[in-house]
Amino acid sequence: MYQSFIGLEIHIHLLSDTKVFCSCKAAFGSEPNTNVCPVCLGHPGVLPALNQEAFEMGALVAQALNCRIPDRTWFERKQYFYPDMPKNYQISQFASPLGQEGYMDVLISGRKKRVRIKECHLEEDAGKMIHAGNVTLLDYNRAGTALLEIVTEPDLETGTEAEAFIQQLRRLVRYLGVCDGNMEEGSLRSDANVSVNLKGAGLGRKVEIKNLNSSRFVRLALDYEIARQKEILESGGVVKQETRLWNENRDQTESMRSKEDSHDYRFFPEPDLPVLEIDDAFRMRIQSRLMELPLVRQERFVRDYGLSSEQAEYICEERAMADYFEAAVSLVKGLDRAEAARRLALWLAADVKRVMNKNGVSPDSIGRWSLSPRRLAQIVELLARGAISGKIAKQVLELSVAEDRDPEDLVQEKGWQMIQDREIIARFVQEVCDREGGSFQEAVAALEGGNLKRYETLSAYLVGKVLAATEGRGDALIVKEEVEKLIRERKPCVC
Ligand code: ADP
Ligand code: ZN
Ligand code: MG
Repeated sequence: MYQSFIGLEIHIHLLSDTKVFCSCKAAFGSEPNTNVCPVCLGHPGVLPALNQEAFEMGALVAQALNCRIPDRTWFERKQYFYPDMPKNYQISQFASPLGQEGYMDVLISGRKKRVRIKECHLEEDAGKMIHAGNVTLLDYNRAGTALLEIVTEPDLETGTEAEAFIQQLRRLVRYLGVCDGNMEEGSLRSDANVSVNLKGAGLGRKVEIKNLNSSRFVRLALDYEIARQKEILESGGVVKQETRLWNENRDQTESMRSKEDSHDYRFFPEPDLPVLEIDDAFRMRIQSRLMELPLVRQERFVRDYGLSSEQAEYICEERAMADYFEAAVSLVKGLDRAEAARRLALWLAADVKRVMNKNGVSPDSIGRWSLSPRRLAQIVELLARGAISGKIAKQVLELSVAEDRDPEDLVQEKGWQMIQDREIIARFVQEVCDREGGSFQEAVAALEGGNLKRYETLSAYLVGKVLAATEGRGDALIVKEEVEKLIRERKPCVC
């Protein structure tokens, strides 16, 4: 009978080389206070100049989020005092942000949900405060770096939905190449607004939760907060409008301060920056920088290649992985595309993943790996045309990576081709059945006595032994036929 509403405010650090209103480097992890200048330190009389690349990156995200990019957009000053912000105001956007009224479709446990985007606006980040004992240190390297704030309408309902939204937005901005999405380093930060109300009664009074530096904390904090607000309402109380913090040690939200209203900031147009007129050339440039977006691609992989949604999601998590997959599919010869895709998807999610982990290759760097799409395609091809066995295929994969060489050459050189010659296999079978005389005789007796279950167990055991004797190179089907043949032949004759 209660309903919950969640709206997110997500800040992403844009990957422009320099800060948004000066030419200082925007690097993470430099010596404190080395990437600073009079502009980002807020000295009197200095003038900001807009970083074109940061603005285009912001517009690209806005476009990907189906936002309207207005004909005229500008900046405002948001005034407040805080030691990490030397100008005592932040240059942000208020009345005409660069992206307005869009949406993002999110896949949440197999169901697609459309979440409206209220706006995207470009702004500058503040510096960093480091509390060390009884002093606080200030590092202004981050002050003035480019942030894009993405604000959703309150369309999300649960912690799980909010978590899925953040993960998919993260994937989107990484695809676009405008943000590395690293939540631990603060490249993607989210505040969460949440209210609870009686069903049908509209939005409730919202609480804002800050300090959420992982998507898991977003989920935990929201679920905690929804339960807390429900309890207050159920006992006839009123939820206080305030800002709360997530305490990750106690797994609870805690009151921080009562929320300021936007009029407290005294927004007014930034007089030192011009109004930007968005022309068609700009719109076309942004459009041309757009590529197939991850969810669209994921759905295409299911539709066109017949992958399961889990496989498609795994492969599309990183753009480099999805590119790798499609390159490999196009390189496999002798199989139709869907069959090649099906086999490649299995390899990527199992053996390739294992070897990547072992070699410290992350999915986003798979494109630079020694196991190129062509090499993986070769392995799939060799296996598909019966040139090598499944066991050898795994061995070739490891060796191709270890020695940085082509699977085809390795198979040739090592003599790893599958043995399909019936006579050669029959010789292996004979040898093994002599050596495993006990099991062999028992199998013969089981077949004779009509104990089929026992017979099958024993013949499978012998097949395994023969395959081992061929070092995995024997054609399993022929081996099985020859083992069964030999057992049948040894059955005592009734004549
Ligand atoms: P503010 O003026 O406090 O910044 P906004 O209208 O800008 O509020 O909204 C900030 C965020 O809070 C948005 O993501 C919005 O969807 C969300 N939000 C607004 N009202 C509510 C509400 N009653 N319940 C839940 N979320 C809300
Ligand atoms: Zn600077
Ligand atoms: Mg707001």
